[in-house]
Amino acid sequence: MAPVPKSMSAVVIEQPGGTEVLKYKTDVPAPELKEGEILVKNEYMGINYIDTYVRTGFYKSTMPVITGREGAGTVVATHPSVGDAFKPGDRVAYLIERGAYAELTAVPTGRALRIPDGFGTDQAAAAMLQGLTAITMISESAGFAQPRLGVSEGPRVLVLAAAGGVGSLLVQMLTVRGAKVIAAAGTAEKCERASKHGAQWTINYSEEDLVQRVKEITNGEGVEVIFDGVGKATFDKDLEMIARKGTLIMFGNASGGVPPLDILRLSGKNVKLLRPTLYNYIATREEFETYTKELFGLLESGKVSLDIHKVYPLKDVAQAHSDLEGRKTTGKLLLKP
Ligand code: NDP
Repeated sequence: MAPVPKSMSAVVIEQPGGTEVLKYKTDVPAPELKEGEILVKNEYMGINYIDTYVRTGFYKSTMPVITGREGAGTVVATHPSVGDAFKPGDRVAYLIERGAYAELTAVPTGRALRIPDGFGTDQAAAAMLQGLTAITMISESAGFAQPRLGVSEGPRVLVLAAAGGVGSLLVQMLTVRGAKVIAAAGTAEKCERASKHGAQWTINYSEEDLVQRVKEITNGEGVEVIFDGVGKATFDKDLEMIARKGTLIMFGNASGGVPPLDILRLSGKNVKLLRPTLYNYIATREEFETYTKELFGLLESGKVSLDIHKVYPLKDVAQAHSDLEGRKTTGKLLLKP
């Protein structure tokens, strides 16, 4: 194996701001491995909406920072403490807190796993964060841990931003679990994608009245579960669309954060309100491995597929952020060093 380079290309953010603060550099020192870490030469890295929150400062981060939470590639070095757990040449995918927008990434072994043979490195990089979010939020937040076998009428579930990265996986996985999905998205083309993924009803919420349509579809009862990654723009509508005793899962802020809430607003329908994060569902190695195995199983079986919107060269990451924030994308955005 070739010697590990001392410097690398990476995208560094020195202060919060617009896409102009994403600085592509070719002379960034390569990470030094700490105990329990492996060094991964990235082949693909995933872009997630959370990367934009780090960039803008909506989520606070110490700066300078190399953001990016997932990737896949080949192990090129290991810390002596790692032993035989991983070795150079292993093909791995990982999920971390920061450091993926780079040629090389130091990854704690607890957050890496070998990519199954026959599974593409691009697919593995694309699957991790959004796939684990969809799977854990369905199992843990909504409590649909198993397909509801023998139940003819699955619960009606509303997914917002249903053609996005997390949204398109939610639609497919919920359908596999037997839910009847109402998919809402911002264009006719996005709605079409959600239909192909199994949604029973679609609503183009840029043109149609979301609340009214959901009421029509559910005969005025509302939906049992809502998955909302849009946030501020839709939260009040969610409280109108949720059924009595329904579960409202607010998991994102694409349109901005939901303002502080008067808790009494939940009592009108005995709503269960959650604001979960993926990382608190995969805090242990057991949780991480169990859910990742389930995710890869779903992808390998063909029951769930990944839509890769585009692979951007790392130096064009600003364009990728701009496309994502401009609602111009569907599915997954990847980077390539
Ligand atoms: P997406 O690919 O879903 O992109 C965001 C989508 O949100 C857009 O395509 C758009 O779809 C919709 N949207 C609605 N209003 C706006 C707006 N004002 N500005 C921008 N987008 C808007 O991104 P991800 O799949 O990466 O993430 C989806 C959400 O899930 C994000 O809020 C993210 O923070 C959250 N998330 C949360 C996690 C957690 O642990 N809690 C983990 C992973 C993701 P449309 O045009 O159809 O409305």
